[in-house]
Amino acid sequence: MENLVQLVRNAGVVGAGGAGFPTYKKIDGKAEIVIANGAECEPLLCKDQMLMQHYAGEVLAGMRHIMTHMGAEKGIVAIKAKNRAAIEALAAHLPEQISIFEMADVYPAGDEYEVVYHSTGRRIPAGGLPLEIGVVVQNIETLLNVRRAAMGMPVTHSIMTVHGHVKHPQTAWFPIGMSYGDVLEAAGGATINDFALIAGGAMMGTVVTDLSTPVTRLSGGFIVMPTDARLTVRKSQTEQAYKRFGKSACDQCSLCTEMCPRYLLGYPIQPHLVMRSLLTTGEMSETLTFWAQACCECNICTLWACPEDLDPRNVCVTTKRDLRKHDKWLPPDQLQNLTKDVHPLKEYRSVPTKRLTRRLGLGKFNADAPLRTDGVEAKSVSIPLQQHIGTPAIPVVQTGDVVQVGDVLAKADEASLSVPVHASISGTVQAVNTAILLGKN
Ligand code: SF4
Ligand code: SF4
Repeated sequence: MENLVQLVRNAGVVGAGGAGFPTYKKIDGKAEIVIANGAECEPLLCKDQMLMQHYAGEVLAGMRHIMTHMGAEKGIVAIKAKNRAAIEALAAHLPEQISIFEMADVYPAGDEYEVVYHSTGRRIPAGGLPLEIGVVVQNIETLLNVRRAAMGMPVTHSIMTVHGHVKHPQTAWFPIGMSYGDVLEAAGGATINDFALIAGGAMMGTVVTDLSTPVTRLSGGFIVMPTDARLTVRKSQTEQAYKRFGKSACDQCSLCTEMCPRYLLGYPIQPHLVMRSLLTTGEMSETLTFWAQACCECNICTLWACPEDLDPRNVCVTTKRDLRKHDKWLPPDQLQNLTKDVHPLKEYRSVPTKRLTRRLGLGKFNADAPLRTDGVEAKSVSIPLQQHIGTPAIPVVQTGDVVQVGDVLAKADEASLSVPVHASISGTVQAVNTAILLGKN
């Protein structure tokens, strides 16, 4: 086989579960353990579960490619014990070097730090990388894409769960660049009039009202919610509003810190101290405190812990932004020096996903979102040149060119961190700017 790193780069594989870090860079090294992160924990989203259930062989094959390439002798699939169908499908294909680690149905079980700690007993250094402790963690969809890359197949589709107030909740492969509006129509449309989409999950996702938003390699799904639902409203607050409320109403009870999963793992994160920093600033001023730096933005503090309905999570997010802007970001070794032992009550403070789902107002949506197997067609797609961390891809097509599914539309910038972009439908190039617009002939 051609070098895996080059194949994975040529296919445009990026971390499908996070910020889109190019996978070719992540696997370019040595590791002891490769972990497949199947601990999907966003309420209602189930695309990883569907992948493990229906594509178990390919997922495990992708994992073996990486293990062989990185010299890892051990592989672990971390998955919630409740996903019995997926566990059985994996067990039927399991090679000797790979084991299944069953996790409790709690949130945020899928946080990389949680997955690594529970499945290996090791802790990722604060501000560091899993590779520093010999571990590499891959998202399930990424592993499938690695397998396909090894077979010469580029990333052209993204698997997403569409749930909430939608006629046919489902999980399906959607062409990259298809608009969210078309995705919604493919699922039968919304069942309510005034709605917004919560993209990426109820806990960590964002509110999307622009239905022309395109599917990218990072899209994991969306939940259709009323615009006036508590969850939608809370997630739509402006920075000025959540800072003003935080400044005036935080009583420093510290429940946000006591329930923070990263704090419970011993990392130097204390959201109540970040909230306290609001008291010394104006409502739109920067808050600069390192107690926000280890925040993974899981939203437990805001949507579960805080009795005052404040938003410590977003105050941590903007504080991290401001720390970077003012060059006050603590280097990893200094942050690591502040790390303590795992909290003795950690396991008793886990947040059960079922209760969390009810708290979020999603308890009535207990139906599955089954995998659709008939394939979703798009008449046109708008494929962004940048769907990854690094430098945007460089277009190699022009308006009027006719392309087939899988053709390269834009090549990687070879001199920097970058991956190419491929056609997700066959058709004609209609425009080239920061995205490439393709229409079916
Ligand atoms: S839980 Fe809410 S009220 Fe209590 S310290 Fe945190 S932000 Fe303030
Ligand atoms: S979002 Fe809140 S609970 Fe989650 S890691 Fe950040 S501070 Fe902790």
